[in-house]
Amino acid sequence: MALFQSRDLHGVGRLANFVRDRLHGDNAYYNRNRHINYTNVCALSCKFCSFYRKRGEDGAYEMPVDQVVATAKKAAETGATEVHIVGGLHPWLKFDYYLDMLRGIRGECPQLHIKAFTAIEIIHFSRVARLSIRDVLVALREAGLGSLPGGGAEIFDDRVHDEVFKGKVREDRWFEVHRTAHELGTYSNATMLYGHVETPAERINHLIKLRELQRESLASSPANFNCCIPLSFVPENSELGFLPGPTGLADLKTLAIARLMLHNIPHVKAFWIMQGIGLSQLALDWGCDDLDGTVVWYDITKREGHGTVHQQFHVDDIKRLIREAGRVPVERDTLYRPVVRDADDRAVPRPEPALV
Ligand code: SF4
Repeated sequence: MALFQSRDLHGVGRLANFVRDRLHGDNAYYNRNRHINYTNVCALSCKFCSFYRKRGEDGAYEMPVDQVVATAKKAAETGATEVHIVGGLHPWLKFDYYLDMLRGIRGECPQLHIKAFTAIEIIHFSRVARLSIRDVLVALREAGLGSLPGGGAEIFDDRVHDEVFKGKVREDRWFEVHRTAHELGTYSNATMLYGHVETPAERINHLIKLRELQRESLASSPANFNCCIPLSFVPENSELGFLPGPTGLADLKTLAIARLMLHNIPHVKAFWIMQGIGLSQLALDWGCDDLDGTVVWYDITKREGHGTVHQQFHVDDIKRLIREAGRVPVERDTLYRPVVRDADDRAVPRPEPALV
């Protein structure tokens, strides 16, 4: 809280940079990935969300399984090591749709890591399939799931929950999904959506709660959080469009404080889609060691002036941006292991952690 209140912004940045350099030296990580948003149809209507549509509404879509698999295959052929798959809580898709999607990708691209489904989607599947969280996660892992992304966390606070994402499950269920995943040997990430109606104290509490689960998972589970991704709220086109959204300095301060609070989570990511490319580059000196990746297609948030969901960053541009910041670009896989490529630019396969 003292750091949030401090006017010595550069001092806060230097503290975070000290920790970041101690953990990672000059390395700055990126990956070659492809985001796939299989549907924007969602049973909920979170106020901060500009992504969801109701079925039949203009712009609503759901991708057939074949289309998801073909997209993943194309990504693998162009050098991606990961697909990041998330979507809305579709009211009518059966659990088999998700299993077929994973099996299809696994069959076509055995080397591609599938990072898929936020905790909220996992809970949705458990309702659709009438299975426990554990059984859903085991079935998904057996079908090809590699790890979980960190979305759906927003801000772990009942006041904020009731104000802006009331229909969503509360924090205990989000933690239940990630705790269970870790117990099963499945790595995951964690997010924090900041810059809407929450206070700095509520951000700090959110980070403390993440740190606590990480402590527990490190002590007793075969897997844990790889990375925290503080997500800068983009008000445009959401029900909270009247809010100003975070400023650049609020972004930097929050990223730096996340690095300082989360001593037991190895990586803090500046997600260039949300923080913007310029600020993400600067964030490499404010505690962040990772920029996500090539992304290609991202439907969830569109910054003002980005009229398209085609948001692609070429791998050479990512490397240039990192070098210009005085860092060393390191291509990583989803689990942050350095990627080695052969003469044909194919990533040398690494084994996935076993399901426990
Ligand atoms: S944030 Fe997720 S759960 Fe909420 S409306 Fe958007 S897609 Fe649906």
